[in-house]
Amino acid sequence: MSHASRFRRALVTGGGGFLGSYVCEQLLSCGVEVVSVDNFSTGHRSYLEHLMGRPGFTLLEADVIQDFETPGPVDLVMHLASPASIPEFYRLPIETLLVGSHGTHNALRIAHRYGARFVLASTSEIYGDPLKHPQDEEYWGNVNPIGARSVYDEAKRYAEALTTAYGKQHGLSVGIARIFNSYGPRMRPDGRVISGFIAQALDGVPLLIHGDGNQTRSPCYVEDTARGLLAIAESDYQRPINIGNTQEITIHDLAQMVLDVTGSRSPLKFIEPDADDPRQRCPDISRAERELGWRPQVALEEGLRRTVAAARRPSADWN
Ligand code: NAD
Repeated sequence: MSHASRFRRALVTGGGGFLGSYVCEQLLSCGVEVVSVDNFSTGHRSYLEHLMGRPGFTLLEADVIQDFETPGPVDLVMHLASPASIPEFYRLPIETLLVGSHGTHNALRIAHRYGARFVLASTSEIYGDPLKHPQDEEYWGNVNPIGARSVYDEAKRYAEALTTAYGKQHGLSVGIARIFNSYGPRMRPDGRVISGFIAQALDGVPLLIHGDGNQTRSPCYVEDTARGLLAIAESDYQRPINIGNTQEITIHDLAQMVLDVTGSRSPLKFIEPDADDPRQRCPDISRAERELGWRPQVALEEGLRRTVAAARRPSADWN
C-alpha cells in the first residue's frame, strides 16, 4: 500500500535493474519524483517500460563510475547501481569494484551537495561464508579478500565504509540496507538461483544444483525488499539494517518447490559447487522490525507462484 513520502525528488542509481525498477515504482506511488540513472550494463530497458512517460519519472543514461550530474536537486539518493549476480561480476570484475568505490563516492557527493538522505544497497554477501547463524548486523563476516566473489563482497564492504565515513565526517544522513537474496517477476535467469530454476523448469530441462544442495538461502519477495529499502529511506537510522526473509530453505528443497509450483517434471542435476558458496544464509531481522516496523509479508510459496505466473506470460523478457 502506498503512503505519502517526506521526499520530493529521488535519484535512484541502478534504477534500470531488477530491484531498482521496483524501488522507482514504489517511490512514484508515494508521490516522489524519480530520476533513474543507469548504464544498462546488467539492467534492461524493458524493466522500465511501464514507467516511461509516467509523470515524475526521468531516465538518465550514464555510468555512475564517471562523474555524473542530476538535472536539479534531489532530497533522496538510493544507490543500487552494481552488477549483482555471480556471472555478471565474473564478467565485469573491475567495473564491479569501481562501481562500489568510485560509483558510491559519486552518488555520495551528490547526496552531500544537496543535503539528501542517502541509502546504500549493500548485501548479505558482506557476511561472506558466515560463521554466525542467523546473521545479525553486528557480525563482521568471513570474507576471502581475493576469492571468487571478492570483487563484489569487497566492493560492498568498501561502499559501506565510505557511506559510514560520509555520515561521520560530513554529518550526512545515511542508511545501509544489507539485502538478502531477492526474487520476483522480471528477474532474469542471469545466474541467480530462483530465476534459473524457474527457467529450467519451464523449459523442461534439468534444474542445475551446485554442490550437494544442502546450502541454505532465505529468499525475499522483491516487493517486500523494495518496501524495506523505502522504510530505511524514510527513517533516520544511520547503521546497517538487514532486509530479508527468515524463511530459510535448502537449495535442494527450493528446487523441489519450483518443480511443485510449475508442475514441471524436470529432473534435478547436481553439478560442481560454486567457489566460496556460503553454506548458510539467513538474516536476523529484529533490527528492521524494531527500528522500521518492517517485516516481509509474502511467503516463499506465494512469491514463487507470482514469479512463475509472470515468467509464463508471453511478454516475459528474459533475453
Ligand atoms: P541488477 O543487475 O538487476 O541491477 C543493477 C543495475 O545497476 C542494472 O540496471 C545495471 O545496469 C546498473 N549498473 C551497473 N553498473 C552501473 C554503472 N557503472 N553505472 C550505472 N548503472 C550501473 O541487480 P539487482 O538485483 O536489481 O540489484 C540491485 C542492487 O541491490 C545492487 O547494488 C545489488 O548489489 C543489491 N543487492 C541485490 C540483491 C538481490 O537479490 N537482487 C541482493 C543483495 C544486494
